[in-house]
Amino acid sequence: MPAKIMLVICDGLGDRPIKDIGFRTPLEASRKPSMDFIAANGVCGIMDPIAPGVRPGSAPAHLAIFGYNPYEYYKGRGVFEALGIGIDVKPGDLTFRVNLATVDDNLMVVDRRAGRIGGDDSRILFQLLDEELRIPGVELRFYPGVEHRGVLVIRGEGLSWMVSDTDPERDGAPILVCKPLDGSVEAKRTAELVNRISMDAYRILSKADVNRRRVSEGKLQANALLIRGASFYEPIPRVTERYGLKACCIAGGPLYKGVARYVGMDVIDVKGATGTYESDFKAKVEACIKALESYDLIYLHFKATDLAGEDGNYRRKIEVIERIDDALYMIIDKVEDYVITLTADHSTPCSIRTHSADPVPIAIAGPDVRVDDIGRFEERACSKGGLGRIRGLDLMPILLDIVNLTHKYGA
Ligand code: ZN
Repeated sequence: MPAKIMLVICDGLGDRPIKDIGFRTPLEASRKPSMDFIAANGVCGIMDPIAPGVRPGSAPAHLAIFGYNPYEYYKGRGVFEALGIGIDVKPGDLTFRVNLATVDDNLMVVDRRAGRIGGDDSRILFQLLDEELRIPGVELRFYPGVEHRGVLVIRGEGLSWMVSDTDPERDGAPILVCKPLDGSVEAKRTAELVNRISMDAYRILSKADVNRRRVSEGKLQANALLIRGASFYEPIPRVTERYGLKACCIAGGPLYKGVARYVGMDVIDVKGATGTYESDFKAKVEACIKALESYDLIYLHFKATDLAGEDGNYRRKIEVIERIDDALYMIIDKVEDYVITLTADHSTPCSIRTHSADPVPIAIAGPDVRVDDIGRFEERACSKGGLGRIRGLDLMPILLDIVNLTHKYGA
C-alpha cells in the first residue's frame, strides 16, 4: 500500500475547562464518535505547536506542523494572504495585508472594515489604487481579497519587513504611523514608504466616485487603507523535495491556502469551503477522499472551531466539533490503509477568546501505528497516550517514520 497521510487540522481546537459545562473542555463535552474512533485506533498525545509556553500564531504553527522551523521560515503574515488569494508573488516581494477602512477628517478610524465593504465596490477601489498610486523607485500593486481585505505588494531594492502596522486594531483610534522595528536603513526607508502610501491612498480614495455614491446611499465610505502584516517572500524548499510526498491542501481561509502554497502544496478549491461557520465540511472531506487518488499528503483544514473560540462561544464550539465529527465519519474506515492524523494548530480557549499556549491533542491512526489505550480524542485523555508530549516540528518526522520514509541516522 502506498504511503499516504491525511493531516486534519481543526483550527484553535484545544481549550480549557469551562465551569458552565462541568469543568470540561468543549471537546470533552462533545459527542464525537469519529474523532474518538481515530483516537481508539491510533496513538495519542499532546503537542506544543511551537514550544511549551509559546502562544502560536496560526501561520507559524502550521509551518512547524509541516516541518518548517518557524523561527527560520516565518517572515511575516502578508505573504500567506497574498499566496492565499492566488497572487503570483515574486522572490524579494514585500507584501502587506490591507483593509479598506472609514476614517474621519482627522484620520480617526470610524470603521476598520468600511461597513464590511466587498464585491464590486471593493474591487473598483483596489483597482483605482493599483492604477493611480505611484511612488518613484518602487513598483506598487494592489489586489482585492475577501470583503474589505486586500493585499499590497511592493517591489524594489532596499526594502525590509521589519516595520510596524498602521492599523490601530480598533475603531475610534487614529491611523498609526508606520515605524521601523530595527535600526536598518531598509526598515527606515520602508516605514517612510508605507506612511506615504497611507496618505496617498487616503487622498485617492477620498475622491473616488464609488465613495461619493456610497455616501449618497447612506453607506460608510472606504476612504482609507490600513496596512499591516509586513512580510518578505523568499522561496523555500518544497514539501515534495523535502519528503518525497506529493502534497495538497483543502481549506477555505486564504491564510491556510497561502501557508500551503508557501511550502509548495497544491491547493484544491472546494465549492462551499469558506473558512466560516457555514463552510461545507462534508464537501471538504469528500474532496480529501478524492485527493487520495493523486496525492500522498493531504492537509485538510477546518477554521470554524477557532472562530467559536474567538467568539467566546463554547456552545457553538461544541456544535462545530460535532459537525466536523459528522463529516469525518466518511474517512474513518480509511485507517485500515492510510495514516490519519487529527490535531490542531493551537488552542483558542473560549474563556480568553484568543490563542493560548496550551498544548493541543493529537491522534495518529493507521495500519502500522502502535495503538495505545486512549479511546477519546480530548485534551486530557490524549495527554496520557503513547505519543507523550511532542512539538509541532516533531510531527512530520514521526509521520514519515510511520510510513517508512525516514533515513537511518548513523550506522
Ligand atoms: Zn489557527
